[in-house]
Amino acid sequence: MNLVSRLPGCRILPLMILMLRINFIISALTHTVVQSDTLYGLSIHYKIPLNWIMRANNLRNEKIYPGKELVIPVDGIGSIYAMSGDTLSGISLEFGVEMEELRRINNLKSDAIKVGQKIRIPPPVRPNEYRVAIGDNLLEIARQHNLSLGQLKAYNGLDNDTIHPGQTLVVRANRPETYRVQRGESLWVIAKRFGLSVADLKKWNSLGSDAIRLGDVLTLFPGMSGIASDGKNNEPTLASIKTKTKGDISSKSSTPENEGDYIFSSPRVTNQPSVSYWEESRVSTLTDYHRAKQVLGEFRRYIDTMKTKSNALRGWHIVIDPGHGGLDPGAIVSVADGNGNPLVITEDEYVYDISMRLYRILVLHGASVSLTILSPDHHIRNGVNARQTFVNLKNEIYNEESHNTQKGWRPVGTIEGLDMRKTVASKEIAKASSGDKRRGTVFVSIHADNSPDLPAGKAILYDGANDRERENSMNLASVLSSHLGATSFIKHQNLRILQNNPADAAALVEVRNVSYSNNAWALRSPGLREQDALMIADGLLAWTKTR
Ligand SMILES: [Zn+2]
Repeated sequence: MNLVSRLPGCRILPLMILMLRINFIISALTHTVVQSDTLYGLSIHYKIPLNWIMRANNLRNEKIYPGKELVIPVDGIGSIYAMSGDTLSGISLEFGVEMEELRRINNLKSDAIKVGQKIRIPPPVRPNEYRVAIGDNLLEIARQHNLSLGQLKAYNGLDNDTIHPGQTLVVRANRPETYRVQRGESLWVIAKRFGLSVADLKKWNSLGSDAIRLGDVLTLFPGMSGIASDGKNNEPTLASIKTKTKGDISSKSSTPENEGDYIFSSPRVTNQPSVSYWEESRVSTLTDYHRAKQVLGEFRRYIDTMKTKSNALRGWHIVIDPGHGGLDPGAIVSVADGNGNPLVITEDEYVYDISMRLYRILVLHGASVSLTILSPDHHIRNGVNARQTFVNLKNEIYNEESHNTQKGWRPVGTIEGLDMRKTVASKEIAKASSGDKRRGTVFVSIHADNSPDLPAGKAILYDGANDRERENSMNLASVLSSHLGATSFIKHQNLRILQNNPADAAALVEVRNVSYSNNAWALRSPGLREQDALMIADGLLAWTKTR
């Protein structure tokens, strides 16, 4: 329906109506409730937060009845109904959308919202994206971003110039435009590396078969090879309202299985394509903090459904410090798999996974456990194939609410960054009930550094600002070491994170030394990461017995 043509002669009103009619093309699934369903179960199954299902369906409580059709907003929420207690600023934080944009999109004159009021939620815009406004045209957007029309269309897989308001366009390539084939590389390897399909690569490069030769230059974008002839620019097509069609909804593919389990958002590529590739967060540290708390809460509820292992750690508070995160990825190494194909391993993504596995084991032994760093979009991840590598995401945040304000910064590897980890630890220890820490507190930092000067075995490093602290740390390190395999060793090293540490004893575990390629290769195995976590837990169980 064309609203403009239905209101001839009126020049202002149509625009206002158009503003109100912006629809974000966000796909959702529907789920028919069966007897055994719970909202929590559905949130785990579809990997989206429980309160998003409640919001998408205007549910006031967690009761659901068989036969009810629920909207499952797997790709994010396009709109919500305001609930009691909601404020515009709260919604802005929860969904990572600027207040200004919420006001504009919803045509709000004030920030007051009513219970039951429908609020449109535009999907977040990434740093390399642009959201189309009414009246925009492709050529102008291309010029604004120093791109040719052909490049802009290629980045977005567009085969014509039609765009619609609210649509997001990629305005900075998320992979190289072209790639020169290296020795021994197959089309499959190249497709995998950039998160593409072999079929697309063949189509975009007009290849009749899978055969490629050393030195061939491939385009990594659709339509890019034809850019040179794209000189003439026809009348640009203005952005106009596009209504949701059935095709838009059903074309959504379900979560790619080899990405690992992501909540809220997932990376743009399925594998880490190169040492220099990374993705930054699209939302504020505060939004990521709230999301991370929710992810941790869901992880905790999942652990609570598991059978406990013992009460051996009751009365102990254990702070786990995933050694890197945020802007500090730790070591990034490129190793070869069994077939000689390169794989890129980013330390922070893997030590976080081991930290979460350790968290689970320690809780199941009755410990009170906290973390210094949290991820906003995943907890434990299992890669499904041997070549899958986690993408370097810079979205982790410190686990400290008051730090994650508008001026809050993400974890960094500087002195300030390390001191912040200790600040978080001391606040977490202070928050623990006296019963939960009556037997003592421990701090364990988890790393897998690139240390060519050290042996390949698991290293446990100790330090302290004074003799007493150093001795406690050494004692913990040696007990841990005796449970971390025959090649494990302890070593004194000047480490700020272990000096004036708020816990009774603190140590740093190097679960792997990624300067050894078989160690780096082992790190991406979920089974071996679980084993690493179990070994550390065994060491902690043994150490706490001696206290
Ligand atoms: Zn490290």
